[in-house]
Amino acid sequence: QKFVYDFSEGNKDLKDLLGGKGANLAEMTNLGLPVPPGFTITTEACKAYLASGQVPPRLQDEVSRHLAALEERMGKKLGQADDPLLVSVRSGAKFSMPGMMDTVLNIGLSDESVHGLAAQSGDERFAWDSYRRLIQMFGDTVLGIDGERFSETLEEAKSARGAATDVDLTADALKDLVQKFKNIVSEETGRDFPQDPREQMDLAIRAVFDSWNGSRARLYRRQERIPHDLGTAVNICSMVFGNLGPDSGTGVAFTRDPASGQQGVYGDYLQNAQGEDVVAGIRNTVPLADLEQLDKASYDQLMRIMETLENHYRDLCDIEFTIERGKLWMLQTRVGKRTAAAAFRIATQLVDQGLIDEAEALRRVNGNQLAQLMFPRFDSNGGLEGADQIGWGIAASPGAAVGKAVFDSYTAIKWSRSGEKVILVRRETNPDDLDGMIAAEGILTSRGGKTSHAAVVARGMGKTCVCGAEELEVDTKRRCLKTADGRVVEEGDVLSIDGSTGKVYAGEVPVVPSPVVEYFEGRMHAGADDADELVRAVHRIMAYADRVRRLRVRANADNAEDAARARRFGAQGIGLCRTEHMFLGERRELVERLILADTDTERDQALGALLPLQKGDFVELFESMDGLPVTVRLLDPPLHEFLPDITELSVRVALAESRKDANENDLRLLQAVHRLHEQNPMLGLRGVRLGLVIPGLFTMQIRAIAQAAAERRASGGDPRAEIMIPLVGTVQELEIVREEAEQVIAEIERERDVELGLSLGTMIELPRAALTAGQIAECADFFSFGTNDLTQTVWAFSRDDVEASFFTAYLEKGIFGVSPFETIDKDGVGSLVRSAAEAGRATRPDLKLGVCGEHGGDPESVHFFHEVGLDYVSCSPFRIPVARLEAGRAAA
Ligand code: PEP
Ligand code: MG
Repeated sequence: QKFVYDFSEGNKDLKDLLGGKGANLAEMTNLGLPVPPGFTITTEACKAYLASGQVPPRLQDEVSRHLAALEERMGKKLGQADDPLLVSVRSGAKFSMPGMMDTVLNIGLSDESVHGLAAQSGDERFAWDSYRRLIQMFGDTVLGIDGERFSETLEEAKSARGAATDVDLTADALKDLVQKFKNIVSEETGRDFPQDPREQMDLAIRAVFDSWNGSRARLYRRQERIPHDLGTAVNICSMVFGNLGPDSGTGVAFTRDPASGQQGVYGDYLQNAQGEDVVAGIRNTVPLADLEQLDKASYDQLMRIMETLENHYRDLCDIEFTIERGKLWMLQTRVGKRTAAAAFRIATQLVDQGLIDEAEALRRVNGNQLAQLMFPRFDSNGGLEGADQIGWGIAASPGAAVGKAVFDSYTAIKWSRSGEKVILVRRETNPDDLDGMIAAEGILTSRGGKTSHAAVVARGMGKTCVCGAEELEVDTKRRCLKTADGRVVEEGDVLSIDGSTGKVYAGEVPVVPSPVVEYFEGRMHAGADDADELVRAVHRIMAYADRVRRLRVRANADNAEDAARARRFGAQGIGLCRTEHMFLGERRELVERLILADTDTERDQALGALLPLQKGDFVELFESMDGLPVTVRLLDPPLHEFLPDITELSVRVALAESRKDANENDLRLLQAVHRLHEQNPMLGLRGVRLGLVIPGLFTMQIRAIAQAAAERRASGGDPRAEIMIPLVGTVQELEIVREEAEQVIAEIERERDVELGLSLGTMIELPRAALTAGQIAECADFFSFGTNDLTQTVWAFSRDDVEASFFTAYLEKGIFGVSPFETIDKDGVGSLVRSAAEAGRATRPDLKLGVCGEHGGDPESVHFFHEVGLDYVSCSPFRIPVARLEAGRAAA
């Protein structure tokens, strides 16, 4: 197996071996495009080096052979004194890893060969500029010298000579600068800048290898779930120069607009410059279209190449190119990044062009992109014009939020209770800010990145967040915010923050609903004349997804309004109706009476009062989901949630007692609160345990379901109720409930003379239930995996606490890239789901299987549930389109 491939030997499918950059350079070479000759050192070579800490002798030999061939072909030797061959050394892993070491250009220049380059190019200034770039990049990336030292020295040279940009520095000035840069190298490393060109190249190769294991790279990989053992490839490419005068230059281009997907000429060009100048924004680029005036031949050739590349890759490509004295060279291409809207547009455009089929179009978009398109945003038609932008941070959690600035959680809660919309502004957030974050429309911080507490928690809550807006100075003591130009935003001043772009505005920016949501809501039709292209694209892609998906998609909904929305969004039933939400508000008092009942009569009275209310709820729900299954889950939460807070009540009773006017009811309540108080309520009296301990509770609910179904049937409806028992750990629990349920249902069927066809199943949300699923299936018509509780109990993570406590640390350490409450932990929780599904079906082949935890609407998790063969996923109404799309993608 060889360690080095000439560009002509590889192809785009060899990314594992040659990295993304190397594989695509090879592909372009073989397409006959003008790529400067060069070769790629494989990821295998990198792995061999990292394993032994030594450059394998075989690699040295192969590099020597390929270098000799390159020199032969170019007719000059690396660093040759009178006419030097120069090369670039670039890293290139399988996955692009921003922030890793990237590029060293102009390898091969030395005190001697710089003169040769000057003579050959006829441009002394160019030669010295190239040399100073080499020392700067080499010093920074290979020798590890702080880049600031070089850039400061460069700035000093410019201001000393009154030069506006680096192009204005003369050859003499650059000569002087090279000497200063060499001095920096000697001072910082204790040795001179290496003059031997092969040594420069070898050191640069080793530095690229070593960068694979740098701490930044390791952290990035852990978070992005990129394996640590892939290694990086190294590309050695003969240099072409964009800084040889006005007939030279460098640029980047896209085969279509990465923001909108529109076909056209997109990109930037910079005359008389090398690649890093464009990225660094040192001088102003011109639009790519201007190249037509500057160099028509190169422009025309570039347009033809872009067409070739798009047809070949069948996707948007981005490109880096250089023009050296009128000759065009391609330095890089790859399938380009794009916005969510562009992804949908491009996928359907390519179908229309006949370049890809519908299944491929589905694979080209994803649920996260669709979710992004469903957030409201600032009105880009005029609304953002003239908006007063005061800062820019990290787009941490998408959406648009407008509200009054508040600087602490207490004020956020207080103001929002009185109906104000607020933006919580903090330097950084911590778990104490949680309530304030919940109360706020959006969160703005001046510190921290995408994994900071604010970002993680806000994303979890689906709340707009901009974090790390560093030029904004947050003064929590004085309750104000200072902008970079000294303006002050006081508490109560209105701010608008854009969680999709990271921009922060003073004042109110108008917000518009997402056109995609308008479409799903049925307020906009894809066929209408004024429907935009995005809506049409979403419509078409959703249609493909619905056609191919196997998983059905249901909603978690417990009122008619949510059910109706869910139906509009494409729900095929309700997978989870949490009945505890029906016991709040004024009904709480009835539950209190139920809990406090001393006698059977008192208890029956309380249940009797609840029954018609429950029945009414179900009638509405069955009506809004007529003809579709509705899974009603019996009461789940610990009872104390329906009683007053223990501390508050204790204080109240104690005060009353000291005044000697304690009331009887409060005393009874306090006793009950004490009796029901649990150290670990999540592991306590809840779910099926409640049903077994409080006589009549579950039968009341079952009776309400059966009566409601009978009523709907009587009025011509088609109710399809399924009764679900929560928190079952053993089949015996289910047997008892089933026996009671069957009696009640039979009774009502007899009374009303109907057959209701009610089914009865259970949640699988405890490890023991999953482990004994084969037994439990004997007694269940269906399973619905409660992956929230299953995650909580498998990991022993309290679902109510962890996100705000140690998850940030876990995310920062890369223990997981995303919370297991958000994306299913396939190896742990997921393997229990898989084995329980298999065991359940082994007992009962027609067992219906679904999932109703939060994971039911998470893109990656939906793929997993498809794979393990579930019948449906159930998620919140807004997530339904995302789940439909991902179910389609999983099947495509
Ligand atoms: C679950 O535990 O996954 C579930 C859906 O039930 P709840 O979230 O109501 O506990
Ligand atoms: Mg649960």
